[in-house]
Amino acid sequence: MGETEDERTAQASQLFENFVQASTCKGTLQAFSILCRQLELDPLDHSNFFSSLKAAVSSWKVKALWTKLDKRAQQKVYNQNKACQGTRCLIIGGGPCGLRTAIELALLGCKVVVIEKRDTFSRNNVLHLWPYTIHDLRALGAKKFYGKFCAGAIDHISIRQLQLMLLKVSLILGVEIHVNVEFVQLLEPPEQQTEDGPGWRAELRPSNHPISDFDFDVVIGADGRRSTLDGFSRKEFRGKLAIAITANFVNRNTTAEAKVEEISGVAFIFNQKFFLELKEDTGIDLENIVYYKDNTHYFVMTAKKQSLLDKGVIINDYIETERLLNSDNVNQEALLSYAREAADFGTNYQLPSLDYAINHYGEPDVTMFDFTCMYASENAALIREKHGHELLVALVGDSLLEPFWPMGTGCARGFLAAFDTAWMVRGWAQGKSSLEILAERESIYRLLPQTTPENISKNFEQYTIDPATRYPNLNSSCVRPHQVRHLFIDGHSG
Ligand code: FAD
Repeated sequence: MGETEDERTAQASQLFENFVQASTCKGTLQAFSILCRQLELDPLDHSNFFSSLKAAVSSWKVKALWTKLDKRAQQKVYNQNKACQGTRCLIIGGGPCGLRTAIELALLGCKVVVIEKRDTFSRNNVLHLWPYTIHDLRALGAKKFYGKFCAGAIDHISIRQLQLMLLKVSLILGVEIHVNVEFVQLLEPPEQQTEDGPGWRAELRPSNHPISDFDFDVVIGADGRRSTLDGFSRKEFRGKLAIAITANFVNRNTTAEAKVEEISGVAFIFNQKFFLELKEDTGIDLENIVYYKDNTHYFVMTAKKQSLLDKGVIINDYIETERLLNSDNVNQEALLSYAREAADFGTNYQLPSLDYAINHYGEPDVTMFDFTCMYASENAALIREKHGHELLVALVGDSLLEPFWPMGTGCARGFLAAFDTAWMVRGWAQGKSSLEILAERESIYRLLPQTTPENISKNFEQYTIDPATRYPNLNSSCVRPHQVRHLFIDGHSG
């Protein structure tokens, strides 16, 4: 006798639950592939995947998630998943911003492929979420994937938990994801081809990966602060020397730990007394410190060079920062003590045992790095044309605009740029002229570095990829088409 209807429903529900509960990148991809195989779903059929999955997994446990995702998918801008039908997109990087962009492009009906050079999500570090990002992630079912998501007054999340939930939503919406695949460079379409000859492709590592044959119309650089995509010049914001330290300690979730208050950004100017006492008591001299209680106890601080020298963390003083912070000039033990002492003082010695969490390399999770320069790309997008094939090239996330870590703006501004980019792809698919699209994108990009939780629209319920729903003082034509001619790179100029 075959399975009964009830047994099939229960089995589907269990397979889906395994996928939802998977706690690693590899585990998620594996559970997803088992789910698809057992339920005979074709993950490559991106236009129908989400509806087939909903039909196959229909237990009460998953209803709330389907309702949320359906609500999002029904926004008018997506035109029933057909706004960008036929548009093929390659996203480089499976960080939070690459994945968030992938979700929007999938909702627009694009064929989306994400390539990620690693196969682990291992960053304990914690990102601050602006109210709109919390709202956005809740609407994507964050609570279903991570029960503790922003419970109570919590407004942050570890990078890896964020990646994990966005990976799951992406897969549900039919995004194709390949890990252990590194983007090397763009490959131009060859000359003298037939109608259906190859278009724009990517050179990848490993070179024989099947995605090497993927022709795409849009490529998005979401590969972090040093984007590999050519053609974008970078602006540098150089401040005075800033040395940042991040540290993660084991969170055993005891009552004593639960009681300790977070520090959500004590700037020196606002709290001189704290930093003076810290210096007097410990010799540690900081400009700021942030503490978030998450999967780990996470601290990020900006330290003054002299105190690092005095405390023996930096061995010799050099003018060039690279040499100064080179591993052979840093006493790792002293660094561990320095960060632990600062964490202890900052939390009034209330955290019972500050044991370092272990990082991806099997070492105590502490890093010290130069934060003097922050980079932003000069432009947000460009178009390449070769032998009749146009390619829209865009940057999102840290590749576009680097965040200031102690403020954790990376994800908040990163998501805004992800939406703005999806809006541009929509315009492109609708046949708007190249220069108009680029001019509009640059106009909107000018707003990004100035955005704060206060000056963006408070009506989160209304947020869509349409920038007018998010930026109250939007002027999407402040950059004129003739000013972006250099961003259209055709076969002759490029
Ligand atoms: P990322 O999160 O950097 O993701 C980029 C992804 O692209 C990575 O997964 C990378 O493996 C992949 N990739 C890179 N090159 C290629 C390639 N050629 N081909 C394929 N894939 C590629 N911000 C804070 O506010 N506070 C912090 O404490 C903090 N800690 C961080 C620690 C580390 C180690 C890093 C790298 C970043 C940290 N950030 C921190 C920045 C923060 O993670 C980002 O602002 C946020 O994650 C959004 O970034 P993103 O998605 O644009 O890029």
